[in-house]
Amino acid sequence: MKNRPDINSATDHSGRLYVVATPIGHLGDLSLRAIETLTTVDIIACEDTRHTKNLCRHLNITTPLVSYYREKEQEKAAQLLTLLQEGKHIALVSDAGTPAISDPGAVLVSKARQAGIEIVAIAGPSALAAALSVAGLSQTPFFFGGFPPSNKSDRRKFLRTLAPFPFTLVFYESPHRISASLADLEFCLGDRSAQLFRELTKIHEECMEGSLSGLRDRVKNGVKGELVLIVQGATPIAAEQPDNLDELLLWHRDQLGSSLKDAVASIAADLDLPRSQVYKLALSVWRDADSTDSPIPPID
Ligand code: SAM
Repeated sequence: MKNRPDINSATDHSGRLYVVATPIGHLGDLSLRAIETLTTVDIIACEDTRHTKNLCRHLNITTPLVSYYREKEQEKAAQLLTLLQEGKHIALVSDAGTPAISDPGAVLVSKARQAGIEIVAIAGPSALAAALSVAGLSQTPFFFGGFPPSNKSDRRKFLRTLAPFPFTLVFYESPHRISASLADLEFCLGDRSAQLFRELTKIHEECMEGSLSGLRDRVKNGVKGELVLIVQGATPIAAEQPDNLDELLLWHRDQLGSSLKDAVASIAADLDLPRSQVYKLALSVWRDADSTDSPIPPID
């Protein structure tokens, strides 16, 4: 490696792995340190060589590229680890943003770490950080959900587990699935406030704000570009518990994210009712509320 970046020399003959963030839109967001690293390493491992070739051409970087992508991540990581152990310095990039955040990278990083290879973060753009930085949320802890599952029933199951979280929820989503995800978020979490960021750092950068149902209305005729969705967290469960048994069962499911078994056990104990009676009612109430639910498990 020529003129290494500003880090200490390795103590053995292994190479270093640099995990390099690249722009999510605006090329000016590539850091000086990232450029220096990409220029001086022996190899750049990238998600799509055609994509990274364009970036390198723009910067007059001639470092050899090898592909490293999700479908072959295990195999490619093993090959790259051998090169690192032979002393090659490798930069890992994804198509855009920070590798290993909803992108390939974690397998190589983990193997390299286990093998005692030095790993250096060349920090920079990420759509997650960019969206949060312009959301204007004050001091709220957040939960990053990545891409919600693409299958409706898995998505609802996943979103239900998030319903009680008193944290801001952040998701990546594709334009063709955003409408379905907004609908399921509203179904599972209620019609909360949300912000939909589109094309961050690009010419058509935009922030749409409103309720989940309002945002769904805004995208009903289609939306283009890359999206980050930020959804208000649950308000702390100071809210009154419903006194009607049907509503109480749904409240346990939707607000507390309880399983059927847990909801039945808790309600039966609290109200001193036979579990079999509560279970029978729960079966019909939950089935009526959501016909797409996965099969309901038997009670012990
Ligand atoms: N590793 C990347 C990062 O650090 O942001 C994310 C990679 S993930 C495969 C791509 C998703 O990130 C897109 O589908 C979109 O949800 C989000 N994203 C990436 N660039 C974006 C941008 N410029 N504006 C809004 N969202 C973006």
